[in-house]
Amino acid sequence: MIRIHPTADVSPEADIGEGTFIWHQVQVRPGASIGRGCIVGKGSYIDSEVQIGDNVKIQNYVSVYHGVTLQDGVFVGPHVCFTNDKRPRAINPDGSLKAADDWMLSKTIVQKGAAIGANSTIVCGVTIGRWTMVGAGSLVSRDVPDYGLVLGHPARLRGFVCPCGGRLQRVDPQTDADSESILLACLDCGEKITVPLQVYEKVGGDL
Ligand SMILES: [Zn+2]
Repeated sequence: MIRIHPTADVSPEADIGEGTFIWHQVQVRPGASIGRGCIVGKGSYIDSEVQIGDNVKIQNYVSVYHGVTLQDGVFVGPHVCFTNDKRPRAINPDGSLKAADDWMLSKTIVQKGAAIGANSTIVCGVTIGRWTMVGAGSLVSRDVPDYGLVLGHPARLRGFVCPCGGRLQRVDPQTDADSESILLACLDCGEKITVPLQVYEKVGGDL
């Protein structure tokens, strides 16, 4: 069953998957695709051609613009804003209003299992990797590596997180001193994850 609240405005030309809930005052534009088992919270906007996978949770008042793809299992916190134009202008240099196709789209991909904290802004053209976590209120303007924990304004890499949400910590630094990858283990569930050395070395610096 698909549940769409009577106050939502869902285009008949949008694809909505089985088991998905669309809550109050959501707008879904033509050509958008929302997978199975998703929740789209009150007041969110899903633009035309946006691609959303299965089991995605979108909290209240999220704006997902044309050019954005959310893969399976992504969490988007309340008031998160995606963008799609790196050089926004209302007018041309001669003062005339820009036309609808008079700009360049930059695509954004949020990969499987990633979570974006409340009120973050995602500048277009980035890939947010699998199982990443973006702290609340962050400004993401660069790619985020898989399992990366990023936060701040602009967001910087602060560490790594497990699919369960726990922090990943380096396992025995002696054993991988010459290795091109670093073995991490979850403090909560014990899951082991490997990240490339060149990614690990970005912790604390620019992405
Ligand atoms: Zn874990």
